[in-house]
Order: sequence, then structure tokens, then C-alpha cells
Amino acid sequence: DGVAYAELRRPCRTMILVNPHSGRGQALQLFTDHVQGMLTEASVPYTLVITEHQNHARELVRKADLSQWDALVIMSGDGLLFEVINGLMEREDWQQAIQTPLGILPGGSGNALAASIHHYSQSPPAWNEELLLSCGFILCKGLVGPLDLVSVHLASRQRLFSFLSLAWGFVADVDIESERYRHVGAIRFLMGTLVRLATLRVYQGRLAYLPVKEAQRLQRGSSNNPSSTPQHPSLCSTLPCRLGPNSSPKQSSRHGRVGTNLNQHSISNSNNVITDTRPETQSDRKTTSPADLLLPGLDQRVPESWTVVKEEDFVLVLAIYQSHLAEDLWAVPGAAADDGLIHLLYVTAGISRPALLRLFLAMEKGAHLACGCPHLVYEKVRALRLEPASPQGVITVDGEVVEYGPVQAQVHPGLARLISG
Ligand code: ADP
Ligand code: MG
Repeated sequence: DGVAYAELRRPCRTMILVNPHSGRGQALQLFTDHVQGMLTEASVPYTLVITEHQNHARELVRKADLSQWDALVIMSGDGLLFEVINGLMEREDWQQAIQTPLGILPGGSGNALAASIHHYSQSPPAWNEELLLSCGFILCKGLVGPLDLVSVHLASRQRLFSFLSLAWGFVADVDIESERYRHVGAIRFLMGTLVRLATLRVYQGRLAYLPVKEAQRLQRGSSNNPSSTPQHPSLCSTLPCRLGPNSSPKQSSRHGRVGTNLNQHSISNSNNVITDTRPETQSDRKTTSPADLLLPGLDQRVPESWTVVKEEDFVLVLAIYQSHLAEDLWAVPGAAADDGLIHLLYVTAGISRPALLRLFLAMEKGAHLACGCPHLVYEKVRALRLEPASPQGVITVDGEVVEYGPVQAQVHPGLARLISG
């Protein structure tokens, strides 16, 4: 598809973070049984770090000397990678830190990113140990490509970075309720789905989003400077747009980001047009993370260009930016790690229990969008806002519970780098 990959530096000094409690509590055993030998054979030098508590990994990467490491690899579920990405983005040198190649080995019960990179490698579906072997192989191959991140704003003004999903309603409830079945592994989601179907309920709130087409039209309108980046000027201007030290010149993407070498000072606030191409200096790099130019304040109305969904009764709202929501939930058939898209799926109230179950069963083969279900809506968006009406509930980001309340998000194409292939 035109995306060339950079290769990891050899030998690749790798930090592997293991959560010993993820999944069935066997991540360490799985590592020694299936991955260790592979890495030795491929001459990948690694240091194993076993996390001792929640947020241990986050604190560790926030303070780590990253010049010592060529890759950070997570052997756990998606939750540990969420910690690592947010730890990197909390650093003063986030712009450089987030360029550290990230890898994932499925060791948890929610292994959505692992299932997605396996899928992107065009291999036939695999589960459990087979999926682990595939991801181990991808790690040894060491090809690195861009990974979109989504910036998520919560009511308390906290901001998080997400690589997988933002969920509310049925999916978020299942995700959290099914944690008590973690010992059964990946089928915890199926069990949770069946349990939740019995107590199916409606979630009230407002949903609005910026459709991709509208975002592109706005960008065309604002790019009155012929020298600005052709395809995603306003999105690209929120990006560090730097290639990491290990990138080869052939690394490029269809978004034309190569060599743009921009920084925050390159952007004029009035029209997002590139005005300054000074070489980057050390102090330029210490900016407080990328600006979310697509988002108004959470207390302000959404712009005219946004679509406000008429329905206010939902069964689920799911914003996802990878192909898989879990090992056997292929939520977005066409998704790629760097498509620059938030895939917004929502199901409106009125759907019957059997119809909802059919959707989830069809999702195993990525066939749910072709079901013709009138309650399921799918939109490709760049930004969204969700305002739940009820005072209590569950919102998850990358499968982790976050503060409940109004939330909004926008995509940052290719902000991170992922070992995939
Ligand atoms: P799973 O897929 O089984 O849920 P995750 O990687 O998502 O596995 O981890 C589950 C949770 O455990 C996450 O919230 C993560 O931050 C947290 N965590 C990470 N390391 C530890 C640890 N050593 N002890 C307890 N919790 C941890
Ligand atoms: Mg998890």
C-alpha cells in the first residue's frame, strides 16, 4: 500500500516489560516457553522487567534513559501498553520519547493490538500460543511503521493518549465486568457478552463527531499556502513529524510526512499554514505535548462542521483505531495502524437481544457491518465528543476505566512507532 517500513537498529537493545498478573497469570511462563528461545536465536539482546504494581511501567518509562533502548516491548494485555504510551507522553522530551519503537507480545486476556498486528501482517487468524509465536516472529523481524495515537480529554481536564479504543455502554461494561473472568483468558469477552445480554440496557447521552470528509474539506479550505503539506496539513501540523534516529530515508508514508521536520513553532494559529521551518533545537523539543487543533473546549459547543447524532439512546458507542477489539473480535475490517482514522461504531436503542448477539458473533469474522442491522452505524471520523447523561457509568480507554463524564478525542496520525510487519 505504499508504506515502507524502517528496520530496527541491530543489535536491538530491547526492554521487555512483563505483567505477571495479566491474563491467566502466566505471562512470564509463556515468555520463557515460547519467546525467549526465539529472541536468543535472532540475537536480540533484551532486559526483562517484571512489573510489581499498576503504573510501575508508566513510572519506569517516564524516568528511563531512553538512549539505552532501541525498543520497548510489552508482554501483557493492552493495559500495560497503555501505561507505557502515557508514561512516554508525560516526559518533557515526549516528542522524541514517543518515537521509541513499541512492540507487543500477547500475554494478557485482552490482546487487541497483538491480534491487530498479526492481522496487518496478512497472516491467517491465530489465537493463544500461535498468536504469541506470530508476534514473537514479527518482533524478531524488527520492521517499524507509524502508529496513530488518539488524544482523549476528560472532564477534569486530564488528557490521555490511546492506541486502541474509547468505549461506553455495552462494550465498556463487558470489558470491566469480564475482568473477573480473566483466568479463562481471551474468551472472557464472550462470557461477559452473554452475561450482559441478559441485563441489556440503554445508555442516554449525546454523541457528535467530525467526519473525515468534512475534515478534509476544512483542510483544503485552510491550506491557501501552496507550500503546505498536501494531504493532512492541519493534522500534520499537530505532529512532531520527525523521523527517529533509526529511520532510513526510504521510510515514507502515504501521508507525505517524510522530512517535513516540523515542530510546534512551525504553525501559525490563524490558519494552520506552515510558516516557519527553523531547524529544531533542544528547547523546541520540550513542548507540552501536541496541540489538539480539532477540539474546542469541552464546555464549548462543537463546531458547525461536526455532525451531531440525533439519537440520544444508545446500546454502545465504540471508537476504535485498530482492526481488532479482542483476539476474536474483528471490529474494523479495513483498519490500519496508521490510517489516520477513528472508526466510530455505535448501536442505537431498540435492537433486540438476538440481533445484538448476532452482531457480536458476526464480528468474529469481521462480518457485522454487512449484517444490514439498522441499529448499527459506522462512521470514519477524525474527532468525537461523547456526553453521557446519567451521573454514573463506565467509560474505558484501551480497556482501562477512566473518569466518567463528558469526553472528547482527536486522532494524531503516526505519532508513535510500532513494531509490526
Ligand atoms: P489483561 O489483558 O489481562 O487485562 P493488562 O495488560 O491489560 O492485562 O493488565 C491489566 C491491568 O493490570 C492493567 O490495568 C495494568 O495497568 C495493571 N498492571 C500492570 N502490571 C501490574 C502488576 N504487576 N500488578 C497488578 N496490576 C498490574
Ligand atoms: Mg486489560
